[in-house]
This record gives sequence, structure tokens and C-alpha cells, in this order.
Amino acid sequence: MDYLDNVGLVDRVLAEQLIGRRVRIPFRSKSQVALVVAVAAAEYALDKIKPIEAWLDDAPIVAAQDFAFLQWVADYYHAPLGEVIITALPKRLRAGEPAQMQGADTWHLSPLGRTALTEIPARAKAQFALATAFLEAAQPLNAADCKAITGSWRKMVNQWLEQQFLQVLPGTCWQEPLAERAHHHPLNAQQVAAVQAVTDKLDCGGFASYLLQGITGSGKTEVYLAMTEFALKQGKQVLILVPEIGLTPQMIGRFSGYLQTPIALLHSGMNDSQRHCAWHSVRTGEVSVLLGTRSAVFAPFKNLGLCIIDEEHDASYKQQDGVRYSARDILVRRAHQQQVPVVLGSATPSLESLFNVKQQRYHLLTLTERAGVAKPPQIKLIDIRGEKIQEGVGIQLKAAMQRHLENGKQVLLFLNRRGFAPVLMCHDCGWQAHCPSCDANMTLHQGTHHQYLQCHHCGEQMVKPVQCPSCQGKELHTMGQGTERLEESIREWFADKTVLRIDRDSTRLKGKMAELTAQAHSGEADILIGTQMLAKGHHFPKVTLVGMLDIDQGLFSCDYRATERMAQLVLQVAGRSGRAEDAGEVLVQTHHPQHPLLLKLIQDGYAEFVRAALQERDEAALPPYRFQCLVRAEAHQAQDALDFLHSLKAGLELQWQSLTEQSVMRGLEFWGPVSAPMLRRQGRYRYQLMLSSVSRQKLHQLLSIMQPYIYKSPLARKVRWSLDIDPQDV
Ligand code: ADP
Ligand code: ZN
Ligand code: ZN
Repeated sequence: MDYLDNVGLVDRVLAEQLIGRRVRIPFRSKSQVALVVAVAAAEYALDKIKPIEAWLDDAPIVAAQDFAFLQWVADYYHAPLGEVIITALPKRLRAGEPAQMQGADTWHLSPLGRTALTEIPARAKAQFALATAFLEAAQPLNAADCKAITGSWRKMVNQWLEQQFLQVLPGTCWQEPLAERAHHHPLNAQQVAAVQAVTDKLDCGGFASYLLQGITGSGKTEVYLAMTEFALKQGKQVLILVPEIGLTPQMIGRFSGYLQTPIALLHSGMNDSQRHCAWHSVRTGEVSVLLGTRSAVFAPFKNLGLCIIDEEHDASYKQQDGVRYSARDILVRRAHQQQVPVVLGSATPSLESLFNVKQQRYHLLTLTERAGVAKPPQIKLIDIRGEKIQEGVGIQLKAAMQRHLENGKQVLLFLNRRGFAPVLMCHDCGWQAHCPSCDANMTLHQGTHHQYLQCHHCGEQMVKPVQCPSCQGKELHTMGQGTERLEESIREWFADKTVLRIDRDSTRLKGKMAELTAQAHSGEADILIGTQMLAKGHHFPKVTLVGMLDIDQGLFSCDYRATERMAQLVLQVAGRSGRAEDAGEVLVQTHHPQHPLLLKLIQDGYAEFVRAALQERDEAALPPYRFQCLVRAEAHQAQDALDFLHSLKAGLELQWQSLTEQSVMRGLEFWGPVSAPMLRRQGRYRYQLMLSSVSRQKLHQLLSIMQPYIYKSPLARKVRWSLDIDPQDV
């Protein structure tokens, strides 16, 4: 507090020492943790200002350049700076815990405990169970392990620690390197060229962005590894973003095996203390490589040298609530701010990124051949109009399955719908199971004990009714097909084969995903059934046939991005096959074999598809040829949401006209308000107003006018509203 005694003397240097440090401040009747964001002369008398209660850090925990980045994110997304800071900082730091590295502790028995704990009698059930777990454990146990045994574990563990029956092993949050450096291949010419482009840039310094477009299996990961190694040799740190780490444990192994350095991880499967630890391990420079999902884009680095984002087209990089940021877009910005190169990689880059290549903002690096001996798969469309379909599988696909299985190969069936059946209907009166809070059907699930209905939009669950709630009819029929039902039929048809289903339900338990993919890899399973979880990053070298059951939803959706996603999905799923010597076969079932974009994709490839899709976007005045902002509003009363958006639109039109008299509204468009694609969700009615402009600057200017307007509007208080800049789902 003594720093602030004489505010007038605070100079730049001092400000630099203060900004980015956490303090405890009195706020209303509570004491709150806050971050110093500016130092300024007081506008009020000093005795009117409450003093800071405590300084929590000796030095800034958010460095000046990271702070500038957060500020930029707040400006760009028109979000309050505080909200961006909350998004960026690990929970434990927000709670005011000391900034230091500590992972989740684990515990193991001391020699003393090894005898003492055997004396606990079996009738002391909980204690006995936990003691047995420690006695039998091959590895130290962590909090989650103990919690799985008994709810009252913490008291016991603390007591045993006090009695010195247990010893603490302080936890870490990084992957230690394997003892031996993993074998790796000499790079082919295209890989070398890609690595060279980036390492040359690393050599001379500065910002540049690269799009690494390499078909699946072309060795992109190997390219990331080589450039990462180069940056590490320069003494720099590397940030690598991936869509979902839980789904790609192999990726972690490849990085640590190749680089022989600890790899810090940041993803949703980690607990708060592990995240806290990972954050500090890169901030202090202890660890040089961070592999993380979306939010890792905010991690602080001591000496960042290179940024990489794998599968840059993946929708999971866009945050869908709070500050709706795109990790890809802000990563590029961050790299620019810190003057380091950034590499965006994908087999199926987004239209935005390819457009950026066209505009010469990104340098294109391409890998057109599969690495090693693997050959690209052959993709074929199967016209299933009029064909006999059994449980979603047509005759041709079934025959192909038989053929591949007889040859001892693996088959992968892709169906992007989990559960048993998407519709439950009464045969007598036509009643359907709807979610009470959403405009959506409830999906029937088999469950381990009993069948149940679940809404895939809000999560609501209920037991399957035994009779129709409307007419008491007894005949409830299911319609449509989910992965569970497909699994059931496939098991019947191929009774002597092993079938593995990989979707969100079958991998809910921790470690299950790794277990299932390991089984898939070992070749133990003959038939893999999966949702889009399977399309991400996995290699199944023994799969030679991929069947895609139902891609038609992607062709006629009201969301203009649906065709782009469909194309990416087809190629990504196709890319899972034929990774080894055998060329893969991919059969795509469709009722619309003449769909122009689908045909383009299959016959002429992704590049031609992109050309056609971009042209459509241009003609329809859609991104990337326009910049968009979606104003969303939802309320329990539909009228409230509508009124809010209508008044916003009217107010804006008025204001905007008075501001720019001559070029009134030119280059600026409003669409709506219209109802969201699903009008009611979780009991709220949802509407949206789209703002669109050829000029990003103009759009942002409008948003700046709009924000204070919203905050002042009494109608805004009745609704939940949000701004979505560069929205993905519209
Ligand atoms: P991508 O990330 O582009 O899908 P990966 O980097 O995972 O591709 O590589 C696919 C497979 O090819 C991996 O098994 C990898 O070990 C192998 N591979 C990569 N580069 C080479 C190379 N230059 N020579 C031989 N095999 C390679
Ligand atoms: Zn009925
Ligand atoms: Zn619902």
C-alpha cells in the first residue's frame, strides 16, 4: 500500500511492477481477489478510496505482453476485460492461492503405515477399504483414486499423514520424457521443405503465419516435432494447441518420446491443481513445451518462440459461452503480438484459412503424399435410394464389410448419432417423446440397467415410459438409428466378430477412451463403430474399410457451414483407414448422390470443393467475404427477447444514420431478428440478430456504439443476451 501513498509520483516503471499482480480488495461486504490492470491518479479524495487489503504476489503473474493480449481479446470480442481475465486465469489463481508450482499430490504408504494399516478391522468399512487400496496399490494414489473408494477419504488421509502412515509425493503436471528417444523417420522432401520454411523464420525472427495443409497420414505431426525441436534448441518455448487431448493420448506420447523433454499439458481432463501447475511451469520456464486444448491459448510463457495449432478447422476451438473467442484466431494474433511464427495445420483447412492463403496473409505449406508406404483411400458414393437398408446399413456396404472381415481386416462404421434411437413414438396416437424444455426429441438410450430417454441439448433424462403418456397405448416404437442400435445389429450379423463402440457414452469413464483405442489399435476388435470422436486424430492402421452411414443432414442444413463441416468430416473419417500397406476403401451412403458440392468433393477433391464453396459464400455475401456479429437474446417469454432485439435494431439504425450522414448504412446489414435454429432450449426462447459488413472496422465501430446502448436498455434486463463475433453456429 505504501506504493500508492503518493499516487502522483507513480511512474511507468512502478506501474509495470504493479500491473498484473493480484490484490485482495474490499468489495461490497466481501473481500475479493482482483488483478491490478492500471495505475492512475485518483479522481476522488484519497479518504474516499478504500485501501487494498493485501498484495498477493511479489511480482506480476501476468506479464505486460500477455496483459496486452488479454486487452486485445477484450476489445476484439467486445467483452469486459474482467471476464477475459477470468477466462484466462486458472481457477486457483482467481481464488487467491499462491502462485507456485504444485501439481496434485499423491500418497503412498510409509514402512510404518505398511504394518499399521493391516490392523484396521474389516468392520470399520470405509477405513478398511481405503487401507486395503493403499496396501494393494501398485502406484501412489491421488485424490480421485481415494474419492472413488470412500467419500470420507480426506479425513482419513489427513489423519494417516499426521500419524506418518502415509507419505506425500508432490505432484507434477507434465509428462516426463520416456527413457529412450523414440524412433523416428527421416523426413521426405515435402516435410523437409515445410520444416525449413518455419525454421528459417525462427532463425531470422519475427512473425509469419503458415498453413500446413497435409492429407491425413502425410506426416504433419512429424513436421511439428521437427520445428518444435528447432525452437527448443534456440532456447525458446513452444505452444501447441490440439482439439481434444483426452482423445489423443498418442499425441502426448509422440511429443515426449521424440523431444526428450517434459511436456506440460492443459486440458479439461485435469483437475484445478494440475492446471495451476501447468500454467506456472511454462510461466517460469521450467517446462518448454505446452500441449493443450482451447484455453491453453492464454497460458503465459517466459520465452515463447513458436505457436502451432493442429486440426485448425476443428469447431472445438471456438468457445461457445462467456467470451466467445476462437482459439485459432487469437493464437494468430498472439503470435503477431509476440513476433513469433505460427503454424496452422490440417488435412482439411477451414475456408477462412484457405481464404487467408488466397489473400496472401498465410503462407501455404503442403504435404500431398502419405508418408511411408500408406496410400490414400478411395472414396465412393453409394446411392441408397431404393436400396434395401437394414438398420441403416445398405446391401453394398454390408457386402463390403463381409469381404474385408473375411480378409482379416478391420472395419470402421461412422454414425454421428449416439444413443439407441433418436425418436420414440406411440404406434396408436403418434405421440413422440419431446424434451419438456427444448424443441427437440429425446433420444432413447439402452443404459446398463434400464432404458432411458435423454435430451442431447440440455441433458434432461427420464426413464422410458412403459406406455404412451397420451393414450396409454402399449406399443411404443423407435425410429431412426443411433450407435447403440447399430452396435446391436452388427453384433447379430457378425456374431463371431469383436465389435467396439466408441462414442461419448462408452468413453464417459476416465481412462476408457485410452483403453478402447488401445483395443482398436491392437487389432483385437474387428469392427469399430463410432461418432465424430473417432474422426479426430486417431490412426487405425488395420482399418481398410470405412462406412459412413448417414451424412445427408450435412447437405441441407440451414447453417451455411454445414457443407464445409460435412466435407471435412468425410475426409477426416476417410483418413482413418489404410494407414499401413493396404489402401483403404471408403463407402459413403447417401440419398443425394447428385448434390453438387458432395460430387465435387468426391470427384475432384477438397481443393475444388473449397473453390466452389468459397464462390457460393462470395455470392451469398457470407464469411469469409463478410464479417459477422450475432446478437443473441433468450428469455422465458419469447416476446421479451424479440422486443429487446427489435429495439436494439431500431436504436442502432437511428444512431448510425446520425453518425454517418452520407454513407448511411452502406456496407452494413442487419438480418433479423429471427428465431434461433432451435427456438426453445432449456426452457428459454431464443432469437438472434445478425450484423454483417464487408468491413471489419465498420462492424466493430457499430459494436462500440451498441454496447453502451445495450447496457442502458431496460429491455436488456429481462433477457440473457450475448455478442458472438465471427459466430460459428448461426
Ligand atoms: P498426420 O498428422 O499428417 O496425420 P502423422 O504425422 O501422424 O500424420 O504420420 C502418419 C504416419 O506416418 C505415422 O505413423 C508416422 O510415424 C509416419 N511417418 C511420418 N513421417 C514419415 C516419414 N517421413 N517416413 C515414414 N513414415 C512417416
Ligand atoms: Zn399414444
Ligand atoms: Zn432438452
